[in-house]
Amino acid sequence: MSTEGLGMRIVIRGIVQGVGFRPFIYNLATRLHLSGWVQNSSRGVEIEVSGPSATLADFLDEIKQHPPVLARIDSLEAQSIAPNGAVEFSIRESLPQPGEFIPVSPDVSICPDCQRELFDPADRRYRYPFINCTNCGPRFTIIQDIPYDRPNTTMAGFRLCPDCRREYEDPGDRRFHAQPIACPQCGPHLWFEQEGQVLAHREDALQLARQKLRGGGILAIKGLGGFHLACDASNPQAVDELRRRKRRSDKPFALMVYDLQTLSRHCQVSAAEAILLQSRQRPIVLLDRKPGSTIAAGAAPHQPTLGVMLPYTPLHLLLLEPGPGFPEVLVMTSGNLSEEPIAFQDDEARQRLSPLADGFLLHDRPIHTRVDDSVARIASGTPYFIRRSRGYAPDPIRLPVNVPPLLAAGAELKNTFCLARQNYAFVSHHIGDMENRETLRSFETGIEHMERLFHIQPELIACDLHPDYLPTRYALDRAERQHLPLIRVQHHHAHLAACLADNGLPPDHAVIGLCFDGTGLGTDGGIWGSEFLTGDCTTFQRRFHLAYTPLPGGEAAIRRPARMAMAHLWQAGIPWEADLPPVAALPAQERRVLQAQLEHNLNAPPTSSMGRLFDAISALLGIRQEATYEGQAAMELEALADPDETREYPFSIQGQIIDPAPVLAALLADRRRGISLSRLSARFHYSLVSVVAQACQTIRSETGLNEVALSGGVWQNRFLLEHTIPTLEKQGFAVYIHRQVPPNDGCISLGQAVVAASSIRI
Ligand code: ZN
Ligand code: ZN
Ligand code: FE
Repeated sequence: MSTEGLGMRIVIRGIVQGVGFRPFIYNLATRLHLSGWVQNSSRGVEIEVSGPSATLADFLDEIKQHPPVLARIDSLEAQSIAPNGAVEFSIRESLPQPGEFIPVSPDVSICPDCQRELFDPADRRYRYPFINCTNCGPRFTIIQDIPYDRPNTTMAGFRLCPDCRREYEDPGDRRFHAQPIACPQCGPHLWFEQEGQVLAHREDALQLARQKLRGGGILAIKGLGGFHLACDASNPQAVDELRRRKRRSDKPFALMVYDLQTLSRHCQVSAAEAILLQSRQRPIVLLDRKPGSTIAAGAAPHQPTLGVMLPYTPLHLLLLEPGPGFPEVLVMTSGNLSEEPIAFQDDEARQRLSPLADGFLLHDRPIHTRVDDSVARIASGTPYFIRRSRGYAPDPIRLPVNVPPLLAAGAELKNTFCLARQNYAFVSHHIGDMENRETLRSFETGIEHMERLFHIQPELIACDLHPDYLPTRYALDRAERQHLPLIRVQHHHAHLAACLADNGLPPDHAVIGLCFDGTGLGTDGGIWGSEFLTGDCTTFQRRFHLAYTPLPGGEAAIRRPARMAMAHLWQAGIPWEADLPPVAALPAQERRVLQAQLEHNLNAPPTSSMGRLFDAISALLGIRQEATYEGQAAMELEALADPDETREYPFSIQGQIIDPAPVLAALLADRRRGISLSRLSARFHYSLVSVVAQACQTIRSETGLNEVALSGGVWQNRFLLEHTIPTLEKQGFAVYIHRQVPPNDGCISLGQAVVAASSIRI
């Protein structure tokens, strides 16, 4: 070995930009006395380095073993080259390459170093609400274009002051090339507005906001990916007033507490939940509420769980800082009217939120992309998403195979879209329910933005079978306009495929898919929703499903569990007797109309929906007759289930039809016998677990398939999930559940993407 040593060229791909990777490499190489350079390119990070071979080996080990906290190395390729003759190690300017792409970092919650500086009176960013560094701060929400440099972010309008510039340019500084770097001298600032008047700036604005919250006021607060509406969660008047103004029915409000210690007074927090709460993504985590909590009942009506998050920006920390008389817990619900997307631009927020808020806490850092808070809980020991958005999007899901550049438009409700290329599937942030123009605009601009960021020009478009869904219409239009092939994917097939992709399984990996949800158009024109499928990403077969039941009034039945219960009774041939809660709940006139509707099959499409069966059972047992949001009746049924109960009732299975009639009859008989609702709820759940196991065994004996994938919104039911998994496992099945995307329709775009890609593979 010569004394000059060897040369090496290294290409690292993954999340390696905007995460302090170059200064990390610079400092490492300098410490090891290696020479050469590092630079960002559109492939990732490229390095040329020279030195003794043993040191080069150490260099590689150190990169692999201790990369910067926010980095994710997807691949590292190293090849020997001639030593480059450089004397020192340097950081070179970025090198764009057309057609390539690099992942964009999601937003990152405030890091411990910044948090310490925020509360250090000697620090020049003491109490500065926009403190951030290479390891934390806004990313996806402020990025307008790539490469990720300050002029391509919403920080472009803020000129760095000399102190910030020094930090930005010093490879030894924690803020080296931190694009959103700012300080009180040069960065964004806060102000407080009421009825169009600015009442206070900076710290005064913060204190005024705290004073209003302490006094029971409702504020609109501009955050990272949009506006929140905030109030004291322990003040019942404030909570009820917010609910009234927001017209938010009974849907639970998200809450924020200062720290884990405070949270432990209100909720049970397991070790796994604590880790998720404190993770850099800081999602809203669903937790079991403690009996002694002071949080107002109106924050989450009829729910034993609360959705709570910890502060994820410096502004949140300052806002929630413990103080005499200051609320321990704030409601921090998305700033919108029920059903509308969250507001994210100042003027739009002033207009839409003025009737809802007593004042506005605003700042002048623009939000480029509207991103809602993520929601997750711990299931079987690991995170399980209800909504994957802030902190996670736009991290790609890695696919086990390469796919052509494509766009999948996603579902109508809980919409996400998915752009994919090579082995990356970029599942978007949560777009929402596609029921209004605002949401449609957010969907369209989101697609344009992500196509630009990731250099994806779709050559293929995927969408649902349902012709009236707004995402389907977008897909149809665009495919026609751009002469692109369009693949229509059945909703539950998309669920199955999404669960395969989520678990890293290849597209030709056949499984049993239990796709249980509220709604999805079937290939026979029926409204499916309890689909026992077999198949892979290319094809599927429907093996079992619930007996078709009329859905009176179509999708409107979602809000009317009582009507759904009546339809199930009618279908089961059980008379509408006066002591049955849904019968008692509906006026005689409505019952007559309903009966005519069912008998003459008027506006009552057939459905095999599992979600609607849960609704019907909830109504039958007298738990909920009217729902203010989808899934409410089912959630309240689940909440009652007594885990100590063991009995179950038999469904009848004939051919591929699973008939709930005997279960309904048995539940009603036992209800009349005075068995408690908790036991009846548990028995219904166990009956379902049992029929699922039975059906899976039949499918296994026919097909040899031994793996089961669980997808669909019904699997958000923890009682059902946590009893189904061990039951199936005891019988020797391997069970896959969602891990990276939610089981609900937020996963549909991923499923459509992999089905579409498989359909054209040669
Ligand atoms: Zn930081
Ligand atoms: Zn500055
Ligand atoms: Fe679904």
